[in-house]
Amino acid sequence: MSSEAKKVMTSPETPETGITEGGTEGAFRDVLSKDHARRGKPPVHFVDMSEDERIAKAKELGLPKFRVKQLANHYYGHFDVNAAAFTDFPASKRDEAASVFFPELITEVTRQVADKGTTIKTLWRLFDGSHIESVLMRYPTRSTLCISSQVGCGMGCPFCATGQLGLTRNMSAGEILEQVRVAARMMQDGEVAGGPGRLSNIVFMGMGEPMGNYRSVLSAVRQISALPPQGFGISARNITVSTVGVVPGIRKLTEEGIPVRLAVSLHAPSDELRDELVPMNKRFNTTAVLDAAHDYWLATKRRVSIEYALMRGINDQAEHARLLAKRLNHYGDDWAHVNPIPLNPIEGSKWTASKPEDEKRFLDILHAAGITATLRDTRGQDIDGACGQLAAKER
Ligand code: SAH
Ligand code: SF4
Repeated sequence: MSSEAKKVMTSPETPETGITEGGTEGAFRDVLSKDHARRGKPPVHFVDMSEDERIAKAKELGLPKFRVKQLANHYYGHFDVNAAAFTDFPASKRDEAASVFFPELITEVTRQVADKGTTIKTLWRLFDGSHIESVLMRYPTRSTLCISSQVGCGMGCPFCATGQLGLTRNMSAGEILEQVRVAARMMQDGEVAGGPGRLSNIVFMGMGEPMGNYRSVLSAVRQISALPPQGFGISARNITVSTVGVVPGIRKLTEEGIPVRLAVSLHAPSDELRDELVPMNKRFNTTAVLDAAHDYWLATKRRVSIEYALMRGINDQAEHARLLAKRLNHYGDDWAHVNPIPLNPIEGSKWTASKPEDEKRFLDILHAAGITATLRDTRGQDIDGACGQLAAKER
């Protein structure tokens, strides 16, 4: 690589992709949005600070160390950021503490409700005017929040609405975690049909590629899973990190030793087809991705989810199912779980959802080959809240 190229890559204008050096040249490139620019950093939030930084900040406000623990209890334990709720705090310090430690990072713009009030999609505005979305889905035995980790996405998958936006910027841990806190609070307050409940599952399947923003995503994962007052206490086993197949990111995650569920968006059983559907495949091909996914299983004994959007006549035929089964079985039994999902067609896309009979045949072939596979539901489709439809258009 020329020194010029290297300079460009490490200049502050280049987004932190987390994809290893060389990420902005060669077969794969980050697709940047028109408004991609150096935008400054979001305000630093309590969750972005280390314990020492929190204590130092408290000291600046004339607050002793134990106040930091009280704030952590309010935030992680009660999902509270309002000064009025800090009744254990000296009245004269409440407002200041709230505004310094809990700046408003995400502001609700619109909320769309579907599925009889059990699916809620929220459009959020961030400090710099950019937008992201999250989707809360309540089921009889669990409540799942689908969160965003980047503004837009630079991976360029042609069937995905977020991919059409390009990447604007990475989100901070605070911006990621605030989506979780607000949803947990909504559940607690009974704002979702079905009465008060508990947010139990988190999926990084909203906007963005989590492995492109590794550091903030990992910080968020740790703070979602730690018990209060270090985190929200949502078990790591109930957190899913979904990746387009950024192999170094999968390998790094493997080494963390956190029992999160890994989902890999495969969508095609051969390089020939995947090159077309997932541009990132030119950088990390199906063999590299499946090897890394299987190593994740070996290290964690957590079954890997293989995400597979069924596209009519493209990747949903018997031959595709047979090849997928063969490639998964090559590594052994029971290490992967396939999640076919009918494509949610996005406007202007040449691809459309599979025929029901092709979906069924696809599943039957996998089952006959001994592979567990369940069709994923498409909650919130009528409010563009389903997988791959998040585009954060201001309405
Ligand atoms: N960037 C990550 C996570 C966000 S996308 C990833 O790609 O895995 C979450 C899931 O939605 C991925 O499995 C993605 O492939 C899928 N997806 C994207 N567009 C879709 C569409 N139009 N229909 C169905 N699934 C889609
Ligand atoms: Fe990005 Fe995932 Fe959409 Fe691909 S499918 S463009 S990686 S959000």
